[in-house]
Amino acid sequence: MTNNIGLKVEPPKKECSDSHCPFHGKLAVRGKLFDGNVSSTKAKQTVTLQKATHIYFSKFRRYARGKSIIHAHLPECIEVQEGDHVVAAECRPISKAVAYVVVEVKK
Ligand SMILES: [Zn+2]
Repeated sequence: MTNNIGLKVEPPKKECSDSHCPFHGKLAVRGKLFDGNVSSTKAKQTVTLQKATHIYFSKFRRYARGKSIIHAHLPECIEVQEGDHVVAAECRPISKAVAYVVVEVKK
């Protein structure tokens, strides 16, 4: 049984018993979306996502390269590798640093 999470994403084909899974568990997603690249998969059930941004300096009228890094929970039914482009949705805080959950891997 796969829950409708209210986002236009492709649900994973595998089933899982992860309680922190928006598709098969009881985790509700709401708020922002974060799309970025997976920069680390070393932590268990958590991935690090990174997104390139621009920081504008009005004094110099120029942009500097910046990056935004978040930690996101990885449900058991979704598999990612480093470098994959994924979408994470905001959810309630799962731990001190994790308040997002990966919902889709973009091909
Ligand atoms: Zn799942």
